[in-house]
Amino acid sequence: MAASSDSDQPSTSSQSLNNSIRTNNTSDDGHISPGPTILDYSHTGMDTSAFAEALSNQPESVFSSVESILATNNLILELPDILGKYRNLKLLDISNNQISDIPEVIVECHDLTTLISRNNLLDEHSLPKQFKYLTRLREINFSGNNYARIPYEIMELPALKILHMGANRIEYISKDIGLIRKLEVLYLGGNQITEIPVEVGELKGLRVFVLADNRIEKLPNSICTLKQLKSLLLHRNQLTTLPVELIKLRNLTELSLRDNPLVHKFVRDMVYDPPTLMELSARTVKLRKIPYKRSDLPHNLVEYLSCAHQCVNPRCKGVFFDSRVEHIKFVDFCGKYRVPLLEYLCSPKCSNHRSPAYEASSDSDSDEDRMRKVLLG
Ligand SMILES: [Zn+2]
Repeated sequence: MAASSDSDQPSTSSQSLNNSIRTNNTSDDGHISPGPTILDYSHTGMDTSAFAEALSNQPESVFSSVESILATNNLILELPDILGKYRNLKLLDISNNQISDIPEVIVECHDLTTLISRNNLLDEHSLPKQFKYLTRLREINFSGNNYARIPYEIMELPALKILHMGANRIEYISKDIGLIRKLEVLYLGGNQITEIPVEVGELKGLRVFVLADNRIEKLPNSICTLKQLKSLLLHRNQLTTLPVELIKLRNLTELSLRDNPLVHKFVRDMVYDPPTLMELSARTVKLRKIPYKRSDLPHNLVEYLSCAHQCVNPRCKGVFFDSRVEHIKFVDFCGKYRVPLLEYLCSPKCSNHRSPAYEASSDSDSDEDRMRKVLLG
């Protein structure tokens, strides 16, 4: 048995770098193809120049055979140009160094699928403009860096499926987030985000969305259009309500809500801007079912009339347009938790005329059963 191991333990500085080369090319029939696939320099204490030297001192054949370079937990400040010679590189892990920049040479590793740079000094100016040419990049982990926002260079990556940017100092998410069409996992826990843009609704393939440990007060309704969403982690935020359509997400099986003001301290103050004269007239047209033709009215009024919302009070036949009152509906999940969902009434008066049936209304049992894991406490 060999005494060496592949574990992530720190190694002594006297360890030969040749021990860092691993061949992983043994196929099922025992055939071994030439050249190593992994260069592992993690925990060797190497600095920038030692890293450059180690990468340079490989035989030519190694440049084309290496698929993974691991250089975590070192003292590296910069990535060397020689990296561009590793043209078949698929995975690069440079976590736990002091790297503040990803140089242009990275684009020459055009087969790169996974880039892991946790706990470094990257910020929104660290990526080269050409970053988008990494057309096979599927997974990025930039958690534990200095990002104040998600850089635009990431939004342009055509194949990105997994993005980890937890524990940075991100305060807002740009509307451009909707450009990452193939995104399936978005981890943004441990930032300072206050608002989620409507455009997250464009991430139709999103399965896992982690927003825990932020300062979010409200979610956009568009989040309820993410039909693939399985896991939505919202614990430790400032949420008072959830959008009511959330319960219709058929695939959602994990929803964490603990340490939010919701449940204990929900919205009591009714915010209500009095309706405009136009809204009052339009409400009357709808309520009395006054007939009108497209040719009777200006185009904008026809449009306006078409976007009426029904009041959620079943005893009210009214509609509203822009003027509405927030109403909190509590829905049971798992027969154990009461989750406040946000919906709208046509006026403050409506909330005083709720029928007992309305008070007790909640979505069907099957919806509640679906929520197998609601973590509130
Ligand atoms: Zn009403």
